[in-house]
Amino acid sequence: MNKTNIKKMAYELLIKSHCTRLPVESIRIAKQLQYIIMTYDKLIERFPSLDFDSLIDRYGNAIILNLFGNYHIYVNTRNGYFDANWAVMHEIGHALLGHVKRHGQIRGESYAEKHRFTPSELAADEFASMALCPDIILDAMHWTNDTEFIKFACIVPDNQASEKSYYLNKEYIKAKQKNNYLQFQASEDQLLSLFSGYINKYGRRVEIAEEFYIDFSGLRKIGA
Ligand SMILES: [Zn+2]
Repeated sequence: MNKTNIKKMAYELLIKSHCTRLPVESIRIAKQLQYIIMTYDKLIERFPSLDFDSLIDRYGNAIILNLFGNYHIYVNTRNGYFDANWAVMHEIGHALLGHVKRHGQIRGESYAEKHRFTPSELAADEFASMALCPDIILDAMHWTNDTEFIKFACIVPDNQASEKSYYLNKEYIKAKQKNNYLQFQASEDQLLSLFSGYINKYGRRVEIAEEFYIDFSGLRKIGA
């Protein structure tokens, strides 16, 4: 699935979940989708044969499991909310992108290099990035080049915030100039209108005010 379609799916999820502001809370969305969410700590409490370190080694920060068509997401919350928010949205991405279709199928976040850059891992990351840090909203708020702002407003880990800011300032702007990014105007418009109150309240205003205009006409005389 290409990036445009992934973005479209992420935006549609936000619209369906009635998101009107940042941060997008992936745990709330997972619950709305009727997924079962549990922390690693709770999972270990229930199944004492499991241990935390081997869960992390084997599955990374989160696991999604399909049980008779019901999705269960287990998440490591010991790294804090920034990582957990990302990991849960990444797993939602796996479910919606059809990566865990079969009963009993399980997917974790392997940190092994050979798994990290497989097409399905990259697609789930792309989904998480578009759902938690929607391009159209960050652009409307003039937050595209502020990594710290993106991190705290969207509740995403440092590396994802800086990747987003890098992407927004290179690819997104380039695509916008070429005018070929508006391939799904309807869901973009809908998302903008849902977020309009938030954008108006917290967006950074970019004004080119008359009073900041420097009049050089006087300077010229000095040199004359
Ligand atoms: Zn994954």
